[in-house]
Amino acid sequence: MRNPPRKEAPAIGLVIPCYNEEDVLPVLLERLDALVRDWASPVWILFVDDGSHDRTPELLDAACERHSHMACLRLSRNFGHQIAVSAGLKHSRGDVVAVLDADLQDPPEFIPAMLAKWREGYDVVYAVRENRKENPILRAAYALFYRILKRIANVKIPLDAGDFSLMDRRVVDHINAMPEHNRFIRGLRGWVGFRQVGVPYSREARQAGAPKYNLRRLLNLAMNGVISFSSIPLQVASWMGALSSLLGFVVLVWVLVNGLVSGRTPPGWASLAVIVLVFGGIQLIVLGIIGEYISRIFDEVKSRPHYIVERSAGWADATAEECRHP
Ligand code: UDP
Ligand code: MG
Repeated sequence: MRNPPRKEAPAIGLVIPCYNEEDVLPVLLERLDALVRDWASPVWILFVDDGSHDRTPELLDAACERHSHMACLRLSRNFGHQIAVSAGLKHSRGDVVAVLDADLQDPPEFIPAMLAKWREGYDVVYAVRENRKENPILRAAYALFYRILKRIANVKIPLDAGDFSLMDRRVVDHINAMPEHNRFIRGLRGWVGFRQVGVPYSREARQAGAPKYNLRRLLNLAMNGVISFSSIPLQVASWMGALSSLLGFVVLVWVLVNGLVSGRTPPGWASLAVIVLVFGGIQLIVLGIIGEYISRIFDEVKSRPHYIVERSAGWADATAEECRHP
C-alpha cells in the first residue's frame, strides 16, 4: 500500500515557544519575514508565550496584529519548554508543522531543506546537530546523555537531535492524542513511528538573551527522557541485589572455610562498617530511583490539564477557547 502523494505546496505551521525572549524576538521576526515572503505555501506561525515576564507578550501581540498569519497563545504561567511546545502543537495549523526555538539556535532558514525531505515521503524530519556552538562541558554532557538514552530507551530516540523538526500532520495528531504529563517531545515523536529521517545542521549559538534552561531543568528533562522511555533503572536494583548476594555468599564460604582450617575468625568491625555503609547507600539510591518513577506516576494519576491558556491573539483565538477552561 502506498501513502498518498505529497502536496506541492502544503500549508506550513511553525510552533515557536518563547520564554522571556524580548531581546531576540525582533531579529527572529525579521528573519521569519524574510524567509516566508516568497513561499508559495500558506504559513501559520504560532508563538507560545510560556508565562514571560518581560516585553515578550507585547512584542508578540504587535506582531500578530501586523501579520494575519501569526498567532500567539499566552499560557497562564511558566509551564516549561516541553509543555509550551505541546500546547503549540495542539493549536497548530498546517499539513506539516515545524517546531523551533525562539533564540535562533534552530535556523528557520533550514525549514525548506526539511520540507524537501517531507516531499520525498518522510513523516518526521528531525534536525541532527552536527556541531554545537556551546560550552564544551555542556556539549560533552549532552553527547553522553544521548548515548546512554539510546542504549536504554525502549523507543528509537535519535542521537543529537532535539525538538527542532518538521512533522506531518498525522504525526502531530498522534502526539497531541498522547495524554502523558511528563512530556519528552523528542521521545514521543520517535514513539509515533512512520518514516523518520535526520538531516544534519549546525546548531548556532543563541542570538541574544540568556538560556532559559538551567542545570536543574536540564537534569529534569534528562530524567524525564530516561524514566518515560526506559524501565532499565528499575531493573538495576535487581542486578545489584543479585550481585551483592553472590558476593556475600562467596565471602561467607571463605569465612567458613578459613574458620574450619585455621580455627580463627577474621577480626574487623571496619570491614563490617564499610559493607553496611555501601549497601545502605545502594539501597537508598534504588529507593530514590523508585521514587522518581512513583512521582511521575503520581503526576499522571492526578491528570491535571497540561497547561492553561490565559489568552490568545491572532488566528489561534478559536482553537484556544476550548482549552481556556479545562
Ligand atoms: N522556553 C520556554 N519555556 C521555558 C524555557 C524555555 O518556552 O520554560 C523556550 C525558550 O524561549 C526557547 C526554547 O524554549 O525558545 C529553548 O530554550 P533555551 O534556548 O533556553 O534552551 P537551550 O537552547 O539552552 O536548550
Ligand atoms: Mg537555546
